[in-house]
Amino acid sequence: MLQAKGDAVHDETSCAKANVPEASNEFRSLTIPVHRASTVVFDTVEEYRQRRRHFYDGYSYGLYGTPTSRALEAQIAALEGGTRCLVVGSGMAAITLVLLASARAGDHVLIPDTVYDPVRTLADGFLAELGISSTFYDPRIGRDIDSHFQDRTRLVWLESPGSVTMEVQDVPAIVAAAHERGILVGVDNTWATPLRLKALDLGVDFSMSAVSKYLGGHSDLLMGSVAVRDETLYRRLRDTARHLGYGASPDDCSLALRGIETLAVRLDRVEATALAIARRLSGHQAVATVLHPSLPDHPDHLIWKRDFRGSSGLFTVELQPWTRPTLAEAVESMKHFAIGASWGGTQSIVAVLDPPPVRTATSSEGRGPFLRLSIGVEHIDDLVSDIDRALAVLSAARSVPLSERKRTDKGFLRENPTAGGERNEAERI
Ligand SMILES: *Cc1c(COP(=O)(O)O)cnc(C)c1O
Repeated sequence: MLQAKGDAVHDETSCAKANVPEASNEFRSLTIPVHRASTVVFDTVEEYRQRRRHFYDGYSYGLYGTPTSRALEAQIAALEGGTRCLVVGSGMAAITLVLLASARAGDHVLIPDTVYDPVRTLADGFLAELGISSTFYDPRIGRDIDSHFQDRTRLVWLESPGSVTMEVQDVPAIVAAAHERGILVGVDNTWATPLRLKALDLGVDFSMSAVSKYLGGHSDLLMGSVAVRDETLYRRLRDTARHLGYGASPDDCSLALRGIETLAVRLDRVEATALAIARRLSGHQAVATVLHPSLPDHPDHLIWKRDFRGSSGLFTVELQPWTRPTLAEAVESMKHFAIGASWGGTQSIVAVLDPPPVRTATSSEGRGPFLRLSIGVEHIDDLVSDIDRALAVLSAARSVPLSERKRTDKGFLRENPTAGGERNEAERI
């Protein structure tokens, strides 16, 4: 092997470490760099020894924060009207983080019946095994939430509007009841985003968002955020995230930063298109109800109007039961709506929820089928033709004579024996 002369380093060493150009003010751009790092380095042994001092704010190890993740956290904190924010690898991770930062073995948490379904599985299974009990409550309970309080109730979780069935919760009433007893309140603010609901202003302690949806906005990343105003709560979240090994990839943080740049214009666009489509669907013979809180006949419209600054692009259509025989054909006839879970991207998505989602504290008996539409940024006319095409296919089921239809409904139940009742795990994801 050839030796380099004098102080010159060997090629192997030059390969291993590029020379970082001297810091200069010559290069400036409008973007935040992607800082990929596991190791964070220090100038002195003493600084290395003291690195844990930088755990909550500065930089000590890649998992606990890089300039890219801190920039994103500061931006989301500001939008939420919070002082602190923490990002983790998915929306689900953010919810788990809040629950585990709030409750220990022997404690009790309250969860809305309309919660994002994987949280129900988390509460019934994993949390129960840890000794954390939970009660599912009617999302429209308001101040009467206090009837569910136990000695060791630590957290009231909210999701508003609720998954699929879109119930809007009376956040200030629930917060008032909970805080009287020193119970924390957290909300899943994914639908509204911090632009449409300032949840921390309404008094909640934790405002959580699935960044995977509107903040990311392009169906290409998974991330969750939790914003708070209280330093102690922030530290508790950060400590819990460290125990669980939660963090967020700098590349995904960079995508989220880019997504948020257009959040306001995307929301304005999908809000307007969604509302126009919701109105078009209302009153159609194949439609039982359009579940969208900005429609004046939505049961929680006044609460929504009081607390929210607008809506987003996700809503649900509850169809007439007689549409079931042509439901799949109708959905597959849509050219601009992809069939899939998740939502909040630029491209329209339709999810079929039939049988209806699991409810235990309220009833979903006889309800559905549900179509959840996530409206994208496509031209409204293209989306409307899709909707009209689907409605025409659905309406065709109406021409089936009533006696036939009854048989078809029974046929549906025979082919889907779990409809409306218990179902297996795979169907719930
Ligand atoms: C998608 C979703 C989540 C979970 O987000 P992921 O990043 O997919 O884990 C949480 N809450 C709501 C309301 C959601 O729709």
